[in-house]
Order: sequence, then structure tokens, then C-alpha cells
Amino acid sequence: MDCRSESATTGQGRFRVNANGKLLDVWLLVRCVSCDRTSKLTVHERTPVTSFDPDELHGYNVNDPNLVAARLLDPLLARRNRFTLDWTGAWRLDSPSAWPDQAWPVQVRVAFEDPVPVRPERLIAQGLGLSRNEVLRRTKCDIPLHRRTSTGFTFTVLAGD
Ligand SMILES: [Zn+2]
Repeated sequence: MDCRSESATTGQGRFRVNANGKLLDVWLLVRCVSCDRTSKLTVHERTPVTSFDPDELHGYNVNDPNLVAARLLDPLLARRNRFTLDWTGAWRLDSPSAWPDQAWPVQVRVAFEDPVPVRPERLIAQGLGLSRNEVLRRTKCDIPLHRRTSTGFTFTVLAGD
């Protein structure tokens, strides 16, 4: 069957290690989101066993989720296998449910647990329950609000009208 879908998922994340003499191939398995067909992203190709870090090799054998994430975030792997990551719906904001009763302006610091690229204006709007226009009017930020970032930043919210 000819499938035109260009989206795939790693699911739980599974590596396949294939030994060929003293050389190893390591792949990360991905599954097409529409037809379920499995394909492989090349992680290592005909690489001498001795050149692997033992912990890394163990991680491949046990499908270490941290190693799956690290490999997916590796720009080299993305370039070699010609893929880009789809971050749609990939982030969640943990913020205090109630704002402390204090005088404006309020300074907020955002920390990332994982380097998920997100536009600050979107994150601030969702976190504070503000419209995009309100965000632009009431926020002073040390980085551009419209440009995606995946590292922590600080912003200041000014009093509303
Ligand atoms: Zn498919």
C-alpha cells in the first residue's frame, strides 16, 4: 500500500541493535501514524563495538527513554535521517493556580524541564489567562515574545487597566 503520510512516532521508544562481526548498527524504530508501518532511523552505522560508551550501549539494549529523547533531540540525527520534530501539543505549563496577592508589576521566571520550543507569547497567554493582545501590552520580556525558545526566561507583567 502506498502511504503518503509524513508523520511518524517513536511510541514508547525502541532501539534495534544489530551486530555484524565487531561492528554495530543501531536504529531507532518509528511507526507511521496513519498506516502503522515501522521504519528505522539510523543512529549508528557500522560502528566498532569498542568505540561505544558501555552505558550508552546498555541504554540502547534496554530502550532507555532518556536516551530515546536525547537521540531525537540530536540535530545530527535529524539531519542524517531528514526529519523534523513535531512539537504540537508537546508542552504543558505548570503554574501556580492562584496568583499571590501582591502589587503589580509581577516578575515571573519560566523554567523548562525539557527543551520544547515554544513561543513566549503563547505560553504567557495560557499561563496567565490573557489574550495575545493583553500579553503584548502588559508584558515586558528579556527575549522576543514571538520567537520560539526552549530555554528559561523572565518576564514582567504590568497592571491591567
Ligand atoms: Zn504510512
